[in-house]
Amino acid sequence: MAEDFYKVLGVKRSSSAAEIKKAYRRLARQFHPDVNPGDRDAEARFKGISEAYEVLSDEEKRKNYDTYGTANPQVGGPGGADFGGFDFRGFDFNSAGGFSDVQDLFPDLFGGRQRKASRSNAPQKGQDVQHSVRLAFREAVYGTTLNLSLDRKNTCLSCQGSGRVATKGRQSCPRCDGKGKQRIQQGSMVFEAPCSMCEGRGVLESEPCSPCGGQGLLSSTDRVAVKIPAGVDNGTRVRVPQKGEGGRLGGPAGDLFIITSVEAHPFFERKGANLYCEIPITFTEAALGAKVEVPTLEGKATIKIPPGTQVGQKFRIRGKGVPSVRGHQVGDQFVQVKVVIPRLRDERSKEILREFTALNDEDPRADLPSFPVS
Ligand SMILES: [Zn+2]
Ligand SMILES: [Zn+2]
Repeated sequence: MAEDFYKVLGVKRSSSAAEIKKAYRRLARQFHPDVNPGDRDAEARFKGISEAYEVLSDEEKRKNYDTYGTANPQVGGPGGADFGGFDFRGFDFNSAGGFSDVQDLFPDLFGGRQRKASRSNAPQKGQDVQHSVRLAFREAVYGTTLNLSLDRKNTCLSCQGSGRVATKGRQSCPRCDGKGKQRIQQGSMVFEAPCSMCEGRGVLESEPCSPCGGQGLLSSTDRVAVKIPAGVDNGTRVRVPQKGEGGRLGGPAGDLFIITSVEAHPFFERKGANLYCEIPITFTEAALGAKVEVPTLEGKATIKIPPGTQVGQKFRIRGKGVPSVRGHQVGDQFVQVKVVIPRLRDERSKEILREFTALNDEDPRADLPSFPVS
């Protein structure tokens, strides 16, 4: 049992099934591999969350977990001399990993959790956190600074994130009355084990920190200024160092990752660093050639339509696209022409076009296959 399932889901031991389900759904959405492609930390978190939920969502497994620290305690056959004829090899367990010693199997029974807490008093970096933002088209192109109001978990200053504080003086352990041992009943068997609260010492040297409830972290809503660089696109990750969850025992905070999505633009379509747009031209402009003004992000540009331009032809305006996030290249703007056919209202125009037809015997259907098509 490497992790406390309640901590993994961020719920209290007293939480209801509905609260556990809600916490699971929120975390599963946040750390789902589909949302975090290639992010190994997120993948590991997601796996841990799923394992924790599998146990805590099942009433019987949860009860076993609360009592024995494992979801599937099964008493094996008679065997080893340890603890009144208990054979730990007979215990099944549900987690994917192995266990290094019996303490991993029964953290609560042998004070493994406390041992672990006092053992790992090295500084620990806080968890990374992800947050999604939606940007206007121009904000994504040119960059912006966002002032976000984020619910964060900061290091509890009372316990420096350890979750435990020293007791005043040496106190006799209340759970075992200072004896250092506790009686455990397992089915019909009763045996003695070291007290889980004091690890068999009979005295308490530390107790759970009350401001943070032993979690080591305190929730608060913080304002965080995030600089979004120019050129971000859908799914860009912007790292904000040390704005994730608080660290423990002097360790640094985790990082905040801002995941961007970008609103569509009514005129431009963006593909990576390039912009695409459509410009209507008249059929005489297409036939005779013309200079046409085209809107760009920074104003306007003029493109030269050569004589004989066809429907759908594309023109490139270099350097009028989107800057790359790394800042040393700018994409291009592509202009596709759409030829607008005139609706003739006056006789004179029709006359001119009939005359034009008589002068130009070009047949656009000359290359069609003969009828019937074989
Ligand atoms: Zn605390
Ligand atoms: Zn005790």
